[in-house]
Amino acid sequence: MLANTKDVLKQAQSQRYAVAAFNVYNLETVQVAIQMAEKEEQPVIIALGERYFPTVDVEGFSAMVQRIAAKTSVPVCLHLDHAYEKESIIRAIRSGFTSVMYDGSKYELEQNIHYTKEIVDIAHMAGVSVEAEIGSLARGAFSDEEEGNGTLTDPKLAKQFVAETNVDFLAAAIGTVHGMYQGEPNINLALLEEIRNEVDVPLVLHGGSGTPDDIIKNSIKSGICKININTEVSMAAVSYLQNYFQENKTTHLSTVMANTQEAMEPVITKFIRLFANK
Ligand SMILES: [Zn+2]
Repeated sequence: MLANTKDVLKQAQSQRYAVAAFNVYNLETVQVAIQMAEKEEQPVIIALGERYFPTVDVEGFSAMVQRIAAKTSVPVCLHLDHAYEKESIIRAIRSGFTSVMYDGSKYELEQNIHYTKEIVDIAHMAGVSVEAEIGSLARGAFSDEEEGNGTLTDPKLAKQFVAETNVDFLAAAIGTVHGMYQGEPNINLALLEEIRNEVDVPLVLHGGSGTPDDIIKNSIKSGICKININTEVSMAAVSYLQNYFQENKTTHLSTVMANTQEAMEPVITKFIRLFANK
């Protein structure tokens, strides 16, 4: 069933597991994420980034996810990922998204607080929960995200930010990157603990792809309740397609799409199991 993202994350917070938020771009990615979540009996967050708005019919996409969610036994959330424009957020709220991420991380703290609070006020009137970010992720390999400067989240500022914006969950920058790591990942779990001690809203880890399993497990122990996955699923599909076209010069698109869906299943399942923290 379609579920309120805040409720789903509050439950994850109290029971110490994390919910996978998969970035999706089309019907196939949505289907695999929801089908695998149902198979594993875990909640799932379907995340559409503002950057895909030019090529995705947002209202049609939302209707599709809501209809699939309605016949699903596990909670399914529909989340707007990394939105920079107020218009995109209002469009997502109007079309039935259950949460939105406003990314004002490029601004100075005061400005970020000002803009985020404005979004929180609008979203809460519609019963939609809000994620925001302070600090900023750098960009690794194979990423499709905006370049950030890699500033880690300051725990005291995180406390001030949450108190003044009334945001429902917070993306903390602790050293993960958007995309795959180039070299050894340098994740600051002690910093995560400090942030955890300052704020009581669920914390979100962006850049889950390529992060070693033990770091994921420890980050869940230290309060991470939502983990975003984009690049690794994309890579599984793309490498499948590269091999497929080397061996099959003529094919039909329907076959390719169905096979690609299958190629994404193991990687999606791997993350759902890891985050369930059983
Ligand atoms: Zn992100």
